[in-house]
Amino acid sequence: MQAEIIANGDELTSGKILDTNSQWLSTKLAELGITTLYHTTVGDDLEAMIDILRIASERTDLIIWTGGLGPTADDLTRQAIAECFGVPLEKNEESMRLIREMFQRRGREMPNANEIQAFQPQGAVPIRNPHGTAPGIDLTIQRKKPVKKGRLDFCRIMAYPGVPAEMKEMWQDSGQKSIQEMLDQLTGQKRVLRFRTIHSFGLGESQIEAMLPDIVNRKHEPKVGITANRATITLRIASEAATEEECFKIMEPTATLIYKTLGSLIFGEGDDQLQDVVCRKLNETGQSLAVIEAGTRGLLAEAIAGSKETPECFAGGIVLPPKQPIDPDEMIRRGRRLFSVDYLLLIGAYPSGQPDRNQTENTFVAVIDARKTDLKESILVLKNYPYVGHPDIIDDLYVKRAIDLLRKTIST
Ligand code: ATP
Ligand code: MG
Repeated sequence: MQAEIIANGDELTSGKILDTNSQWLSTKLAELGITTLYHTTVGDDLEAMIDILRIASERTDLIIWTGGLGPTADDLTRQAIAECFGVPLEKNEESMRLIREMFQRRGREMPNANEIQAFQPQGAVPIRNPHGTAPGIDLTIQRKKPVKKGRLDFCRIMAYPGVPAEMKEMWQDSGQKSIQEMLDQLTGQKRVLRFRTIHSFGLGESQIEAMLPDIVNRKHEPKVGITANRATITLRIASEAATEEECFKIMEPTATLIYKTLGSLIFGEGDDQLQDVVCRKLNETGQSLAVIEAGTRGLLAEAIAGSKETPECFAGGIVLPPKQPIDPDEMIRRGRRLFSVDYLLLIGAYPSGQPDRNQTENTFVAVIDARKTDLKESILVLKNYPYVGHPDIIDDLYVKRAIDLLRKTIST
């Protein structure tokens, strides 16, 4: 099944805000095994909205729409759907009940304007909106004309509010489930799609690919994709089967081979980031950490403090100006004065005092055992990296190098 996602709103087409709904929904559809063929954005213009709906319903079988479900005059989604498919808008009692209930729960009188939100195109099923007022619209249109081979004889339109938090909640609450049920019915059997994402750091995308030539190959089953995001290289294994257990069983040998080949380059899976893995380990072992960074504008402290693991292990950080060269010894002295921790993690400044992309300077990253009193002995590992890389990501790269160095130090 192929889908089109439509984002509606003048705020989007005028450039005031970015359409994040479509991006999120695409990843959710992919989890269900549905390919998104088109992302369309349309302003609050009834004629344009009708046009775009007609085109979408001709070229795909599933349309996910967000925005324009509110009670104000610029909220035209209900009307556009009704007019495009030639069905009247009618007051839906179930919808009305859901809206009244919402206002009652909030202890507020329902304004007359909100009654419009109970109107739905004839034949539509309202989609429950647990924390907002506007219910969504779920309408299936039977096709009159025969369609191309492989296409369905119906088109389903699901319209959600524009507010991302409401849309997401409704998707988790019912959308996902009802699309899965439709897919099961279509295939006559239950299929689930599951993924494993394995993250590595330390080598480039092509180097990782070269280490796994047979796996990252279009013909390999299960399919494995490779992506790079700011120097984190991710391998994604995808598998489809009747049950979740079966999916994971199919993926297991491939995952095992990836782990065997990449070894300690792998730092985690799923939504784990480098700092999460490090914080978890430190928390588990009751150890603590402070950071001192000169070249990276506070990004190292931000990464650790922002970990999804509770940052019990994190004592704090010192952010020094990037343009004043400082040696590791001085950093360690400063760190000791301020923090009583197990580890200090350091990132140095640019040696010349200025980042110079044409000059391959070295900037150091070091892990310090702050429990050792002798300065030289306390330096567990110090590495110099040439300052090369795109200016947009170079700081990020140093931050990841530092956290990764700590990860390797504490995991041995
Ligand atoms: P409301 O009842 O709040 O008016 P609505 O369904 O009419 O809901 P819109 O008016 O289209 O939704 O959008 C409400 C807000 O949601 C927008 O101001 C914007 O901040 C956010 N929003 C809408 N569409 C998107 C989108 N595609 N991506 C990210 N944010 C969005
Ligand atoms: Mg609105």
